[in-house]
Amino acid sequence: MIRFESVVKQFGDNVVLDHLDFEMAAGDRVTLIGPSGSGKTTILRLLMTLERVNEGVIWVKGSPLSHERKGERLVPASEKHLRKVRRSIGMVFQHFNLFPNMNVMENLTEAPVHVLGRSKTAAQERARELLAMVGLSDKETAHPTQLSGGQQQRVAIARALAMDPDILLLDEVTSALDPELVADVLDVLRRIADTTDIPMLIVTHEMNFARDVSNRVLMFDRGRIVEEGTPQQIFTDPKEERTRKFLDAVI
Ligand code: ADP
Repeated sequence: MIRFESVVKQFGDNVVLDHLDFEMAAGDRVTLIGPSGSGKTTILRLLMTLERVNEGVIWVKGSPLSHERKGERLVPASEKHLRKVRRSIGMVFQHFNLFPNMNVMENLTEAPVHVLGRSKTAAQERARELLAMVGLSDKETAHPTQLSGGQQQRVAIARALAMDPDILLLDEVTSALDPELVADVLDVLRRIADTTDIPMLIVTHEMNFARDVSNRVLMFDRGRIVEEGTPQQIFTDPKEERTRKFLDAVI
């Protein structure tokens, strides 16, 4: 589904990702862990096409995301190509970023109607399915300000899924929430993980969240994967000294 092929990303002389290779299959839920500055957010931003690679290629479902085909060759993607592929990536941020002047239903149907060209009826039907999935069927006409942070975050998850993305990126989605609201958001993500095969790429500092939702954990340090394994393996029996030190510091 997703492949990073020898991806290099640098800012000036600072090589943030150093020939990074990794793949995600349908149904994969991958959590990126590692110290601050190790390149995790940069990976999400590359997938969101907010940054461009310096070298290497990012593939989504066999098509280049970072590049476009010109005959046999791959050339760096044009803005037009990036705008198009951006639609296939769903992202949920720490701060919910709902459209404040729109109600929940409008938040969920805006992009499917205006960007994907779906009919309003079809978009609303899909929105209702997604609201049921995130447990907010009774909030169709509510405005974001009338919802708790946890509810807003569940709407944001539904809104990302309303575009039928090829991958769901979750960037610190529970870290701005009061502790008692975190469980509801995790339940929703677990339900999505159980009932769909959409790949999820997760950046979080909450190791319980990583353990609960993901099937693979990648430990990053200085733009390289230093260790990879199941949550069970990484959290209970890390092989690398670097991973052990990081986990000792955060858990
Ligand atoms: P993490 O998410 O693991 O904390 P980041 O991907 O945010 O790490 O950052 C990795 C490195 O890239 C850091 O050294 C950071 O300073 C640098 N960096 C990130 N974005 C930019 C940018 N827009 N301009 C310059 N340097 C950046």
